[in-house]
Amino acid sequence: MPPRACLIPGCPRNAMRGSSRCSQHGGRNTNADRGYDAQHEAIAKRVRQATHCAKCGARGTIDNPIEAGHIIPRAEGGTNTPGNYRPECRRCNRSAGGRLGQQRRRRR
Ligand SMILES: [Zn+2]
Ligand SMILES: [Zn+2]
Repeated sequence: MPPRACLIPGCPRNAMRGSSRCSQHGGRNTNADRGYDAQHEAIAKRVRQATHCAKCGARGTIDNPIEAGHIIPRAEGGTNTPGNYRPECRRCNRSAGGRLGQQRRRRR
């Protein structure tokens, strides 16, 4: 299959395999960026109302607030459906990045 162009208008890169966006736009960019649609926002808003992290059980604080995390990362084919969200504290959400199961990334 020839690579498709990145979905983001004006982006010169090609999309990643299995994605409609390039690594810059499909990966770990900020949520505020494009790619997260209104549906995501609606779900995320609800998920953030949880008081505890579903992963480590920590209580949300100002330093470590509860965020909406994807159970299956979007990079691995996760979708923006309600079933793919859970509340995670910021620490867990950030560290989840590309690390799931055995796939461990080395720290630089
Ligand atoms: Zn792009
Ligand atoms: Zn946590």
